[in-house]
Amino acid sequence: MTKICIQGIKYDKKSSYQKGPRLAPPLIREALHSGSLNLFSENGISIESSTIVDKGDFEIEDYFSIEEITKKHLNSNAKIFTLGGDHSITYPIIKAHHKKFPKLDILHIDAHADLYNNYEGDIYSHACPFARIMENGFATRLVQVGIRTLNPHQAEQAEKYKVEIHQMKDLDFSTIPKFKNPLYISLDMDAFDPAFAPGVSHHEPGGLTSRQVIDLIHSIDAEIIGADIVEYNPNRDFQNMTAFLAAKMMKEILGKML
Ligand code: MN
Ligand code: MN
Repeated sequence: MTKICIQGIKYDKKSSYQKGPRLAPPLIREALHSGSLNLFSENGISIESSTIVDKGDFEIEDYFSIEEITKKHLNSNAKIFTLGGDHSITYPIIKAHHKKFPKLDILHIDAHADLYNNYEGDIYSHACPFARIMENGFATRLVQVGIRTLNPHQAEQAEKYKVEIHQMKDLDFSTIPKFKNPLYISLDMDAFDPAFAPGVSHHEPGGLTSRQVIDLIHSIDAEIIGADIVEYNPNRDFQNMTAFLAAKMMKEILGKML
């Protein structure tokens, strides 16, 4: 039986524009358990499973402690599902996975490529995690979907690290590859169009629909060994709709991981 550890990472110090994602993990759980929805994924899998262990939320002061917390949970021989937090947390999480998964593919769903070499002088900014992951060789393959903010610097970085980018402007789901290695999914809530997910720091119109992301998750046939949902910013939400979308995505991803 697959064991899954849920960890909430309350951290948004690496957010460049607005704070708020540190407040997200308990609110996503609250939406999930509000009674508004049942706990089955669309594929008919219940996430009320004794193999899912919720380790609760961690208030993070030191960015590097995220790696240690993740390692501890990985050592219990579980797959890790993380509620963020801003997107900077994905780098220490992936770093923690590297020893166990030397060959790892990543599906990164986001409006942004997050490939800056540094952002406003910080190499660990939430605009940089995938540059750190790729320069350290922590991913065999990085596939990005939903991108609609590519600038020359990040396009150069993508070329340097051989990142496979599926930009919104020419999105064709039939060209998204099948993964062969163990797969990690990183879902930035701003990948969705702000009409579906207003509770994010960076509103970037022209994004994915809820349905498109759910279908993308369902289409995966590789083994999903870990995932995160990041960048939900409750300070900007409307009627908790982004919390409910994050809860729905949590169910669908956990349903695929089980
Ligand atoms: Mn991001
Ligand atoms: Mn983003």
